[in-house]
Amino acid sequence: MTGQDKPHAHVGFDNSYARLPDRFFARVAPTLAPDPQLLALNRALADRLGLADTLRAMNDAELAQIFAGNKMLAGADPIAQAYAGHQFGGWVPQLGDGRAILLGEVVTDQGRFDIQLKGAGPTPFSRMGDGRAWLGPVLREYVLSEAMAAFGIPTTRALAAVTTGEDILREDIRPGAVLTRVAQSHIRVGTFQYFAAQDDREALRALADHAIARHYPQAQSLDDLLIGMRDAQARLIAQWMGVGFIHGVMNTDNMTISGETIDYGPAAFMDRYDPEQVFSSIDQFGRYAYANQPNIAVWNIAQFATSLLPICDGPREDAIDRFTQIVQGFADRFDAEWHAVLGRKLGLGPDHPQAGTMGLQFLEHIARLGGDFTRAFRALTDGGLSGFEAELGATGDQALRDWGMMWEAETTPETRAKMGQANPVRIPRNHQVEAMIAAALSGDLSKFQALSHALAAPYTPDPSLSAYEAAPTAAERVTQTFCGT
Ligand code: AMP
Ligand code: MG
Repeated sequence: MTGQDKPHAHVGFDNSYARLPDRFFARVAPTLAPDPQLLALNRALADRLGLADTLRAMNDAELAQIFAGNKMLAGADPIAQAYAGHQFGGWVPQLGDGRAILLGEVVTDQGRFDIQLKGAGPTPFSRMGDGRAWLGPVLREYVLSEAMAAFGIPTTRALAAVTTGEDILREDIRPGAVLTRVAQSHIRVGTFQYFAAQDDREALRALADHAIARHYPQAQSLDDLLIGMRDAQARLIAQWMGVGFIHGVMNTDNMTISGETIDYGPAAFMDRYDPEQVFSSIDQFGRYAYANQPNIAVWNIAQFATSLLPICDGPREDAIDRFTQIVQGFADRFDAEWHAVLGRKLGLGPDHPQAGTMGLQFLEHIARLGGDFTRAFRALTDGGLSGFEAELGATGDQALRDWGMMWEAETTPETRAKMGQANPVRIPRNHQVEAMIAAALSGDLSKFQALSHALAAPYTPDPSLSAYEAAPTAAERVTQTFCGT
C-alpha cells in the first residue's frame, strides 16, 4: 500500500493463509515478552485499516501487550510462513519466517492486509537464529517503509514498534524489539520456489489461486499472473530508482508477488548520485547496486516463471516459450516506467518521447559534477537551470547549458510546476537514520519522532525542516549498512 490510498472500512480479522494446506506454514505463538513498552503506533495507518476504534479503547500498556504478541487480537491465528529463496544467487531450499509471525489479515473493503509481528520469537524456521529483532533495525524499517509510503511507492507499512524488555545478543547486548508490519500479503517469489523445488503441484496450484485472488483478480491464467507480477515489479523498481533507493538484498525471498517493497534490512537512499552505489556490507560484488536493480528483478522474475512451470497446462515446451517472452518483456516495461518517472521528475511529463534520453543525460551531469541525487532534482525543480548550477557549483558549464536550453524548450511553466510532486525535498538520509537509532538506544525517541514527522510530507518544502534537506557533510556520510538481523 502507499500513503495515498483512501481510508477503508474495517470489516473483520481473519487468516485465510492459515486455511491453505498444512505444509504452507507452521502454527506458532509469539514468545512472551517480559516487559513490553510501546514506542510508536501509526494511528493514521490504524485508521485506514479500520483498527482505530479497537485500538483507541486501549491504553499504552495494553497496546504494548498486543504489539509484542503477548495478547492476541480477536480472530488472530498466528503462523510462520514457509518459503525458500535464492540468496545472492545461491539456492536455499528452506528459509521461512524465522522471526516473523503472521497474526492474520485485516479484511477491508479494499482487500486483505496481513498483520505480522517481526521479531516475536523463534519459529520452526529459525534455523540458527534467535527469532528476535533489535531496536535499531525495527526503527529503521519503521522510518524507511513509512517514508516509502509517503512517496507514494508500494511498500509494506509499519503499524507499531515496541521494545520487549528482553536483552538480545548481537555484537553486544541490544534491546529486543518487535515491528508490526502490514502488507497486501507476504507471498514471495521464494514461496513459489519452495513448492516448485519439491514438485508439489497441488500446493503450487493452491498458492497460485490464492495469489491471483488476492493480487491479480483479473488474471485468467498463469501467464496473466506472471505478466501482472512482472509489470508491478517494473513499476516498483522504476519508482525506487526515482528516489535514489537501493534495496540492498533483492533475494528472491525478499521480492513480493504483489509488487510491494519488502524487507528493509540494509536498504538505503543514496546521497551523492552514483549508479554503482552499494551500501550493504555483505554485497561485496555489487550484485544489488543501484543501477543493477532492474537486472536483478528480471533474474528474480525468471525464477518465478520457472516455479510456475510444473503447473502449466499443455506442453511444457510451449509454456517455456511463452514465459521466456514474458520475462524478456520486462526490459521494455521497465524502460517505459523509468522514462515516465524521469519525465515527471524533469517536468517533461510521463509520455514525453525524450524523457529517457534527457533523463539519462541529466543523470550523467549529476554524476560528473558529483551532485546529491535528491538535491540536484529539487534544485532544478525550485530554481530552474540556474538553481541547479548553483547547487552543483557548475555555473557556466557549457555542456550543462546545452542540456538546459533543450530542457527549457521542451518544458513549459505549467509542466515545470508539476515537478514538485515528483521530486522529494526530504528523504531518509542514512546519517539521520543512524543518529536516530543512536539516540533511541540511549532512551531518546525524539529524533525518531522528528524524522518521522519530517518524512510524512516529503514533497512539501518547509523551512523549519531544513536540517533534513541537507546532504551529509564528509564527516557525517554513512557508507555502509548492515542486514539488521
Ligand atoms: P532477511 O535477510 O531478513 O530477509 O532474512 C533471511 C532469512 O533469515 C529469513 O528466513 C529470516 O526469517 C531469517 N532470519 C533473519 N534473522 C533471523 C533471526 N534473528 N532469527 C531467526 N531467523 C532469522
Ligand atoms: Mg526477508
